[in-house]
Amino acid sequence: MPRTADILPSLRELLTTAVEAVGGAERPGQVTMAEAVHNSIKTGEHLAVQAGTGTGKSLAYLVPAVRHAIESGRTVVVSTATIALQRQLVDRDLPRLAKALKQSIGREPTFAILKGRRNYLCLHRLDTGAPEEPDDGGLFDPFAVSALGRHVKRLFEWSSETETGDRDELVPGVTDQAWRQVSVSAKECLGKDKCPFGTDCFAELARAEAGRADLVVTNHALLAIDALQGYQVLPEHDVVIIDEAHELVDRVTSVATAELTAGMVSAAVKRCGRQIAEDIVDRLEEASEGIKEIFDDLPQGRMDDLPRPLHGVLSVTRDAAHACITALGPDRSSQDLESTTARRQAVALLEEIHDTAVRVLEAFDADTGQRRDVVWLSSDMVGGNLRPPALRVAPLGVAGLLRERLFGECTTVLTSATLTLGGSFDALARQWGLPVEQRPAQKAEGTATDITPPADNDAPHWSGIDVGSPFTHEKSGILYVARHLPPPGRDGLQPAFFDELEGLVNAAGGRTLGLFSSMRAARQAADELRERLDFPILCQGEDSTSLLVSKFAEDEATCLFGTLSLWQGVDVPGSSLQLVVVDRIPFPRPDDPLASARQRAVEARGGNGFLTVAATHAALLLAQGVGRLLRSNDDKGVVAILDSRLATARYGGFLRASLPPFWTTYDQSVVRGALTRLNS
Ligand code: SF4
Repeated sequence: MPRTADILPSLRELLTTAVEAVGGAERPGQVTMAEAVHNSIKTGEHLAVQAGTGTGKSLAYLVPAVRHAIESGRTVVVSTATIALQRQLVDRDLPRLAKALKQSIGREPTFAILKGRRNYLCLHRLDTGAPEEPDDGGLFDPFAVSALGRHVKRLFEWSSETETGDRDELVPGVTDQAWRQVSVSAKECLGKDKCPFGTDCFAELARAEAGRADLVVTNHALLAIDALQGYQVLPEHDVVIIDEAHELVDRVTSVATAELTAGMVSAAVKRCGRQIAEDIVDRLEEASEGIKEIFDDLPQGRMDDLPRPLHGVLSVTRDAAHACITALGPDRSSQDLESTTARRQAVALLEEIHDTAVRVLEAFDADTGQRRDVVWLSSDMVGGNLRPPALRVAPLGVAGLLRERLFGECTTVLTSATLTLGGSFDALARQWGLPVEQRPAQKAEGTATDITPPADNDAPHWSGIDVGSPFTHEKSGILYVARHLPPPGRDGLQPAFFDELEGLVNAAGGRTLGLFSSMRAARQAADELRERLDFPILCQGEDSTSLLVSKFAEDEATCLFGTLSLWQGVDVPGSSLQLVVVDRIPFPRPDDPLASARQRAVEARGGNGFLTVAATHAALLLAQGVGRLLRSNDDKGVVAILDSRLATARYGGFLRASLPPFWTTYDQSVVRGALTRLNS
């Protein structure tokens, strides 16, 4: 039931109550952010807020969000990129906030968590068993088969204990392949009314709870499905708050990426089984064989043109899948449950195959600079096994989609510790589809150009605010750039790099988080330093990442080396982490199909592809990695970038301007001295 604004306490009063209840002190950045979020909700103007670690940003958006939900009687959606933040909100911040605000607002605000259907155990699939799955090569491996069997057995046991059926609550987790045996996609689901388990269905219960809640916490993937793909999965809402917004574009791109493999087509053949005439299924089987042959023959990587044999096999696949869908026909009320289930499972996979084939065939229609999708062929390495090749198609950008379907539909607040790059919101605003401030060229008086161009009134209105950080970066941290080192090469880490790293780790007495641009480099550095030093050195991949991070946090002398997930996922306050080392500026790999295609598209439109794509990507990741150093007010330490290009290259200034304002030095002895003093 909505409550009128004059009965509700003011935002400041609610924030003070909330902060006192969680035992915190009022922080200027937090107050500024809460007021900005409140104002955005009131005016409908979208907002981007950069809020450094320690600002208390979750309360700064949750309090105005709760106030709006109570006042309007409408649900507010909060979206996160990581499970860690989702857990923090649902298990810690929201329960405390709900209790704290109960008296002031007259009732305890309610909240719920909602994920995609695939994230919940499907009781019907558990009962009936999984249909034929695409074989991605893993089932040729006897170890994979027995591991799958063990995981599925565990899932059966867990199904009788779990109250939510939420995959993220299963610890330790199971492989994707095992999880697919007990879950369904939205298209495969029979629907609550038809399903014999509809009333107990975990996904349906979660949805119903979300529909009643003031606040719904979800992830960027579900937000993207809801906003972009036209399935209404989230409760009706007029405000979305996107935390970890620096991840939004990547997550939305993943949702909008499709894949086609020979295994998918042969699984569809088996799913069709005897439901339709043999000669129709035979055409699909031939398509599967054609795909296998051609994918094995074609070179891997990005495709700038559609090879003729691929065009042929995709056309055959598209037509064969369409013929099977037509032959299967629509759901019929006379069909028994078993037939309906089998039909749905076949159609879901056939539609995916058909739509992907059509999308790839159409991807090459326009000129290079105008294309919307990029296509590439690649084989993934999973658990030491090389999977058969997959054809993938992804959008070159998601700006248009976000602008129309997200910003055009509801008031959106985007927040993260890293949203400004090179000191401005422009780079990310462009990726989100928000208008970047135009700086018009000087016009000559009395000429035809002395006319104000028509305003783009449809452009979403937004503002950006950086509420800073409670940390004094200049006093607490040093940015050391090893300018004397040779620029990193393609042949792995050089001896000079190891000497530099050894000197730093020694001075720090361990306590080092090593962020590497590849697993190969992380392993190479771990092996070399184990030879040279006595400090325990952990390397990602040797155990679960969360266990390695716990060991690293517990023992001050321990070092942890790793790659991508450590750049963003390590939160270790205190003296166990006093040195963050970065081996090289994290540009995308030159053979990264999506990044290279995006770069080329910008260049085709006359822009600077390297700065717009590669340098922006590197700046974002670098800022995230560097942000691992200071996690609490008392933290002190050093960030060492062992890539001299940060000091010498033209783009170095842009990258440095994306980092917190640490005191900067190029002097090796100064930084070693500082680390030794910290360590004594
Ligand atoms: S309603 Fe859908 S998801 Fe739920 S148990 Fe039935 S088939 Fe599974």
